[in-house]
Parts: sequence; C-alpha cells; structure tokens
Amino acid sequence: MSRFFTTKLSALKPYTPGEQPQDMQYVKLNTNESPYPPSPKALAYARDAASSLMLYPDPEYKVLCAKIAEVLGVQADQVVVGNGSDEILDFAFAAFCEKGAVYPDTSYGFYPVFACMNGVSGTEIPVGDDLSLNPADYAGAGKTVFIANPNAPSGVALSLSDIETIVRSNPDSVVVIDEAYVDFGAVSAVPLTKKYDNLLVVQTFSKSRSLAGARFGFGIGSPELISDLNRIRFSKNPYNVSRTTAAAALGALEDEDITRENCRKIMETRRRTAERLKAMGFTGPESSTNFLFIKHPEIDGKELYLKLKERGVLVRHFDKERIAAYNRVTIGTDEQMEIFITTVSAILEEMK
Ligand SMILES: *Cc1c(COP(=O)(O)O)cnc(C)c1O
Repeated sequence: MSRFFTTKLSALKPYTPGEQPQDMQYVKLNTNESPYPPSPKALAYARDAASSLMLYPDPEYKVLCAKIAEVLGVQADQVVVGNGSDEILDFAFAAFCEKGAVYPDTSYGFYPVFACMNGVSGTEIPVGDDLSLNPADYAGAGKTVFIANPNAPSGVALSLSDIETIVRSNPDSVVVIDEAYVDFGAVSAVPLTKKYDNLLVVQTFSKSRSLAGARFGFGIGSPELISDLNRIRFSKNPYNVSRTTAAAALGALEDEDITRENCRKIMETRRRTAERLKAMGFTGPESSTNFLFIKHPEIDGKELYLKLKERGVLVRHFDKERIAAYNRVTIGTDEQMEIFITTVSAILEEMK
C-alpha cells in the first residue's frame, strides 16, 4: 500500500479470482465457465458491432433490455444491465444497504468485498453442517439480504417457496437473489418480482450463456428498484456495457435453444461424473449448478488440488477452514471429465 492509499479502505481484502494461468494448457475446471463456445449469433452480432466501436453505446440499452424482458417474461422497465452480474451486485450494495447487509458465511466471496468497498456493515450467517441455508435464519433480517441460489461453492439450491418465504418475511428490506447458476436445475425467482417490490434477481451470461469473457449480467426487479439501480449506474458509468458485449448478449438471447441444449448436456455430464465420483468414495452435496463440491476421506482437499494441478488439471480449492476438505470442480465436456476422473483415480491409486 502506498502512503497515498485511502485509510477508509485500509482493511479492504480484495476478491481472489480463480487462477487464469497463462503458462500451459490445463484441463480448466476451476472458474465455472462453460466448456462450449458462444452461440453463432452472439459471435456474428459482436463482429458486426465492432465496426461501430468509434461510437458510444446506447446508455439506456433499450433493444437489449426489451429482449431480456421478452425472454424472461417481465417488462422492459424491470431490467438493468451490468458489466458482469458482479457490477449489478456492487450497485445493489451501493443503493440499498444503509442498515447493513446479511449473507451466508459460506457463499460468493465477493459479497464481503462489495460490503467493504461500499462502507456497508456485513453480517455472515452460518450455513448448516451439510452446507444448506435455513430460510428461517433470514426472516426479518432488518438488513439487505444477499443469497446466491443455487449457492456457491456448495451448489445447493433453495426451493422457490423458501425464497418466497425470505422475501415475504423482509417486507422493509431488499432481498437480492443471485441466480448465477439458476439455469443448471434450480427454479428462478424472476416471476416473483411482479408480486414483491423488495425482490431483486441477478443473473449472468458468464456461465450458462458461454460469455464469461464478454462481461455481461443483468438485474430484474420492480420498476422502482431498477430506477434506483440506474441512478447508481448513471452516476458511475452510463456506458458500462460495451457495444460488442451488448451485441453478443442480444445474439445469445436470440439463440436461447442453444443455451438450453448446452445446459442439458452439462447437467447430463454432471450426473454421470457425480455417479463415478461417488463410486470412488467422494461425498458432497447434491448440485444444481455447473460444478460439483466434493471431498474424499483419504485425501486432503489442498493435496488433491495440488496433485491435480501438477498433472495439468485445474480445480478450485478454498483455504477457508470450514470447506478446506473440499474441491470445487466445474463440469466441462465429457472428454474433460474423463481426463479428470482418470487423473483422480491415478492419484488415489498412488496413495495406497
Ligand atoms: C460467477 C458468479 C457471479 C458473477 O459473474 P459475472 O461474471 O460477474 O457475471 C456472481 N455470483 C456468483 C455466485 C457467481 O458464481
């Protein structure tokens, strides 16, 4: 830290992104990207938009918001766009958290970082021993609630009725449901945004829509909540989504059938991979996401992570004590998972 760095942020612990190694080709199962390429329309639209890069994009992103609204079954004034869904989460911390924020103690690592950046006091609520959330813990929180559903890194989903209970029991606080992984088997709370004015649902194009590198996410809520978030957006960066990214996102939405097919394939690969891991003695919660969170009685989480990395397979390990026994493994293609399983088998065999 230089002597010029603001003391206000001296306690800031930046988010640690998963490794994006440039040294060699790994079987990369560590950051929950899609193993499948972006849709042809996403690529074609981005290429076309590139020829207009001397011009700023439409700061209202009217065409894109209308398309998101059509696909998600809401009104266009219920949509706000972001440079990744991380940006929408950041806007929500800036806009709605005067009384503080609550989130699970084992969840997306960015929540405490955004709380700190926005001067928000954050409270962590412990998850159960099985890593599940108890909706009753969030009733009448008196603070803004942030829940990833399905949760990360556990992969566990709450039912829609549990989500509704949390929203209903916090009528005077905003409840933010981060649905980064919702397309892999959970039920979206988007329809509830018509019924509750305190619900904000956030989704991303980084996982199910194969556009992690483009950086695009959006929020859905009541027109009033969305207007508040746009107030923040126009105060930070009205052109927060690039022309090429907005075009790619529009293309992806016109290729919804490709997204659905990719999700179906990933869920099928997940089922097969989970079965094989179970047969090898691994345990972990039932996943509703594009990753598995697994541990094995005979090998420490960190040790397995390091041995896999040595052999060219990258997974995600978290040092946090509660979950240090686990590794989070992104579901890749069938071929990638075959390599993963074979490599894990060899490591376990060597330990005997
Ligand atoms: C990946 C992820 C996000 C953010 O994704 P963006 O790439 O910023 O859209 C948000 N929340 C959770 C829980 C995630 O796993």
